[in-house]
Amino acid sequence: MTARPHIFQFDNSYARDLPGFYVAWEGAKVPAPNLVLFNRDLAAELNLDAKLLETPEGAEIFAGVRQPDGATPLAQVYAGHQFGGFSPQLGDGRALLLGEIIDKAGNRKDIQLKGSGPTPFSRGGDGKAVVGPVLREYILAEAMHALGIPTTRALAAVTTGETIYRDGPKPGAVLTRVAASHLRVGTFQYFAARGETDKLRQLSDYAIARHAPDLAGQSDRYLQLFRGVVERQASLMAKWVLVGFVHGVMNTDNTTISGETIDYGPCAFIDAYDPAAVFSSIDHGGRYAFGRQPVIMQWNLARLAETLLPLIQPDDPDHAVELASTELARFPDLYRSDWLTGMRSKTGLQTEAEDDPDLFETMLAALQEQSVDYTLFFRHLADAAMGAPEKLRDLFADPEQIDVWLQRWRKRLENEGKAPVEIKAEMDGVNPIYIPRNHLVEDALQSAETGEYLLINKLLEVLQSPYEDRSDLEAYALPAPAAFGPYRTFCGT
Ligand code: AMP
Ligand code: MG
Repeated sequence: MTARPHIFQFDNSYARDLPGFYVAWEGAKVPAPNLVLFNRDLAAELNLDAKLLETPEGAEIFAGVRQPDGATPLAQVYAGHQFGGFSPQLGDGRALLLGEIIDKAGNRKDIQLKGSGPTPFSRGGDGKAVVGPVLREYILAEAMHALGIPTTRALAAVTTGETIYRDGPKPGAVLTRVAASHLRVGTFQYFAARGETDKLRQLSDYAIARHAPDLAGQSDRYLQLFRGVVERQASLMAKWVLVGFVHGVMNTDNTTISGETIDYGPCAFIDAYDPAAVFSSIDHGGRYAFGRQPVIMQWNLARLAETLLPLIQPDDPDHAVELASTELARFPDLYRSDWLTGMRSKTGLQTEAEDDPDLFETMLAALQEQSVDYTLFFRHLADAAMGAPEKLRDLFADPEQIDVWLQRWRKRLENEGKAPVEIKAEMDGVNPIYIPRNHLVEDALQSAETGEYLLINKLLEVLQSPYEDRSDLEAYALPAPAAFGPYRTFCGT
């Protein structure tokens, strides 16, 4: 008799290497698992056989009711600062790490179910997820990936046949998420808050093995681990801000060590440019507003630094603080440098000039004052580079303000010594025309809640090629109609 091939070739390092960092747990039973979205491209990258997963058995696995061979499902423990206040005990309250697999490129990936039922960390929550937020995370994560932004991915979404009560009855659902790891700043905070330095060292060495293997065995590896996280997160923040993404709930438990975007809850893309933009219904103080994200990330990284101090210089706390502070202090310049490089590309410039910051700030001030659509601005700017500024000017109620800026920008472009077509092609290659606009996401989600997946599948397809203008997709490039009104998002519970 030949053995049935395993669907996942699990190699579960977290379960194996970190006992005491999780609780072994299983998914809750649900009545009717139904696979509604499956990411074939990602499955191929992960060396998974779609034929075995796009099946009733696959739906049961993705709903958490059937344990695939080799899985060691577990709920991870972590803590976290939520809106600035410390919660010493969070953990996976509605998620299970099924295990890890090695993808085609040789990278280790977590396979996690989100919404698979209560765990010992549910803190009174039901451990479930509902279809709207599950599909929102699916759309946003895949859109971010297509935009070249480090992110967790979405492999599958199932509905469970359960009715879950939120602000009314909702269809239950589970998301299968793929991540470079689920190590969070909050994971480190959990053990630091308990004074468990040995466990913190174990966790740090595990993080090094996964995210900075070259550091293994080096005497200053914990400081270097921190340095790497600072660099990855500075780069990530620049990418978020350049594309107009608002995460919405940048708590330290939603801040990864890998540098991937994680936990898409009340997130959204800005339409009109506004550093104060907040979409989350619970972010009353604007703590996680669009323009505050880099500052908040630096604050979150300071919390990570605090946890690592006893490892960085066990015998000399003052020196440890000094070393960690020096690394943390690099963040603003790292961020700024990435942002400036990115903004140069977005405006068709490659050569640096001393007045770049002022050039971009003047441009953004005009966008902000006249509530101009951030995404469309850069696409139309590429047309202006070709000598056709009409569409760009039409975005402004008072175009004179941008005319003055355009003159200044054109002078800079001339110094680039490139043909206008070349500049336009380069600009269009970095400025998306299709982003997950809030009204499009809402339409797709509302339709999916009634069991109709046409809109969401179309939207996912459009967002897979965000830079390539397709004439039949004009509606996907447009801002929300006025009737859509101000947008509010709700935490993905
Ligand atoms: P999030 O806002 O999704 O990052 O979640 C913050 C914390 O609340 C995490 O520990 C989650 O596991 C937990 N949590 C969120 N929603 C639920 C739920 N419906 N049931 C149990 N725990 C939850
Ligand atoms: Mg979270």
